This record gives sequence, structure tokens and C-alpha cells, in this order.
Amino acid sequence: MNQTYILVINCGSSSVKFSLIEPISGDIALCALAQCLLTAQANISVTFEQETQVFVLPAPYDHGAAIAALVTHLDQLKLSQHLVAVGHRVVHGGESYCQPVVIDDQVKGTIADLARLAPLHNNANLMGISAMQTSFPLLTQVAVFDTAFHQTMPEKAFIYGIPYQLYRQHGIRRYGFHGTSHDFVSQRAAQIMNKPRQQCNFISVHLGNGCSVAAIKNGQSVDTSLGMTPLEGLVMGTRSGDLDPGIIFHLVEQLGYSLKEVNNMLNKQSGLLGISGISNDCRALEQAFSGENEQQAKQAKLALSIFCYRIAKSIASFSAALVQLDGIIFTGGIGENSALVREMVLAQLSLLNFTVDPLKNQATRQGVCDNIATSDSRACWVIPTNEEYVIARQTHQLLT
Ligand code: ADP
Repeated sequence: MNQTYILVINCGSSSVKFSLIEPISGDIALCALAQCLLTAQANISVTFEQETQVFVLPAPYDHGAAIAALVTHLDQLKLSQHLVAVGHRVVHGGESYCQPVVIDDQVKGTIADLARLAPLHNNANLMGISAMQTSFPLLTQVAVFDTAFHQTMPEKAFIYGIPYQLYRQHGIRRYGFHGTSHDFVSQRAAQIMNKPRQQCNFISVHLGNGCSVAAIKNGQSVDTSLGMTPLEGLVMGTRSGDLDPGIIFHLVEQLGYSLKEVNNMLNKQSGLLGISGISNDCRALEQAFSGENEQQAKQAKLALSIFCYRIAKSIASFSAALVQLDGIIFTGGIGENSALVREMVLAQLSLLNFTVDPLKNQATRQGVCDNIATSDSRACWVIPTNEEYVIARQTHQLLT
């Protein structure tokens, strides 16, 4: 076997995803998921040649233990010798990074400094970087930032309506996230339309557990719905998205919530889960929507209606950032698979000349890529995202 691979690693606060990717074709040789880290249930599942094995992780059940288990596995499969670099997904690059970068001590210092803007994410990313440097000291390590694609936004899109000095002194501004996904799907849409990317204008809609819309003008991000943190904008799986900031004062001053409780409620108990009281999972809500339990059907319908209305409103508002529009792009687990959500969103966008083709919409799921609009409508693409492939490709480009 003469293949070379990039090891892509995505370190979350309690999970780590690994993929071994051939950076030209995007073929995945092995993938692994470590879950329930920092608890005694910590485990890692490794999928290689269509077989999945699950291993229990030893104490201290942390990111280091997960990475050590993966390395042992790669050694046993004789895959380690085919690695040429490690690509790390890093959530917050602040204003320091608009491109991927080779990681050295200075870069690690900057990522650590930016942890003030994304404490859970950047600190987990740093743990992954340090553990990989220990396991593979000779391999180049590259950081690919979730915020980087949005660094082309103009000031009018990223400055909040609060005193400007808070931006100058403390970096309080919109940064946006899901950059690798919006970058990938807008590039794919341009390829499919056979049009130079610099001439393409899209509104890209990433709907997963986290959700965001981005306005892409001449191939570059000019606005996006996520903000300084991943709490702003659309209603998400468990996050509230936009709300009147006065509600926070009311919760604390009138209802006796602590700031920690408000933080937890807005990030973990809101969104689809909070409204429906059923689940944060779109599939479960679709089932409840058409199920026999009337109360659950009502709450699921309300949650999905709010979710879709907010997406449609966000798409319509982003038309202000563009002078032309080649189409909408849906991506992420919900955007790629939920015909119901796409239909409910597009039904509210007839003023912008969107009409969905019901048959195409139903048929487009599970990795299928298609334009689900009627022939007289603006284009509406469903494009499966592939953030790991973008990270592998950008890491490889930096090496070469
Ligand atoms: P993450 O942001 O964690 O990467 P994903 O992009 O995998 O999340 O998206 C997860 C969401 O996608 C969940 O709400 C899930 O219910 C939804 N989803 C996945 N498959 C389907 C499907 N067939 N129909 C509707 N929703 C789906």
C-alpha cells in the first residue's frame, strides 16, 4: 500500500472524531469516534474496512487516552507509517487567522489566547493538538479554523450595535462558524453550475445540531447568522438563537436564575428541544408531528414551524447582503435529509421566487446532491457537506 493519508481530528469537549483521509480523492480509510470522555463510560469506536470495534478507554478517560488508543490501533493496522500530516479542526481563530496554518508554539499560544472567546472548544482543540504532537512528533500539524471563511465579512456585518470600544479593546464582534462547511458547499455549487466561483452568489444554510446561514458574494462570505459565540441566529437543536437580550436580565433579576443557569438553559435546554419538550433531534420531531399523541404532535409542529420560519426570515434578510442570487444551498444533517424542513422553509420564500419541486425534494436525501426547485424557480441546491475532506485537502495544500 503506497497511499498517504491525512489524519483529521475534531476534538469536542467530551468527544473526539478522527478520520484517516486520502486528501486528493477524499477516500476515508478509517474513522473513529471517542465519546463520553471524562466519564467512566468513555469509549472509542473504530471503523475500518466496514467493521466497527468498540473499546473501553482507561482512566483518566480523557482526550489523551482516546488519542493513545487510536494510535495503538493505527500501529496495529500498520497505518501510522502512511500518515503525512495531522489536520485539526479548531473552532475559534478570531481575527488572527483567515487561512489554515502550520501549528507551532506561537500558533498554540494564539489559540490558547482565543479560548477567552470559545473556552470549551479551543481548550479541547488544544488538548488534541498537544496529544497528537506527543504521539506524532515528526508530523506537520495544521490548524483549520471554523471562523476563517467568514473573515471576509465587512465591518457593517460584524460590528454589533454596542460601544465600538468593546470591539477595539475586547474583540467583541461577529466571527461566525461552520466556515469549512459553507466554503465547501458553495464551491461545490459553483462547480455544478459550471460557473467561476468568484462570480457566484449564494445563501448557504447549514442545518445540523448547530445551524447557520451565510451570504456568499462573489465566492466570499459577507455575512452569517452565528455571532461571537455559536448561540446567535437561528433556533438550533438545543440552542435558542436570537432573543431579546432583556430576557436575560429578567431571568436573573426577576426570576432568580444564576448566570450559569441562564447559560445552560440557552445553550442546552432551548431550541427544538426546549420548544417541543420532546427532543433536539429533527427525526424524532418529524415522527411526533405525524404520530398519534396529539399533544406531542402539536408541540413538535410548533417547534418545527418556528425553526423553519426563522430560517426563512434569515434567508430573506440576507438578500440585503447580495445584489444577485444564484440560489440557496441546504446542507448539514437536517438540510441534507429533511424534505419536510426544506419544504416548510421554501414555502415561505415565494416572494424571492423559490418554488420547490415536491418529487425531487422527497428523493433528495442521504448523500444525494440535486437542485430541488422547479424549473421556473431560482435554484435550490441540496449539497452534502464534508468538513473532514476540506480539512484534509487544506492540510495537504499547506504541505505541498
Ligand atoms: P452535527 O451538527 O452534530 O454535525 P449533523 O449535521 O449530523 O449534526 O445533523 C444532526 C441533525 O440531522 C439531527 O437533528 C438529525 O435529526 C438530523 N437528521 C439526520 N438524518 C435525518 C433525516 N433522515 N431526516 C431528518 N433529519 C435528519
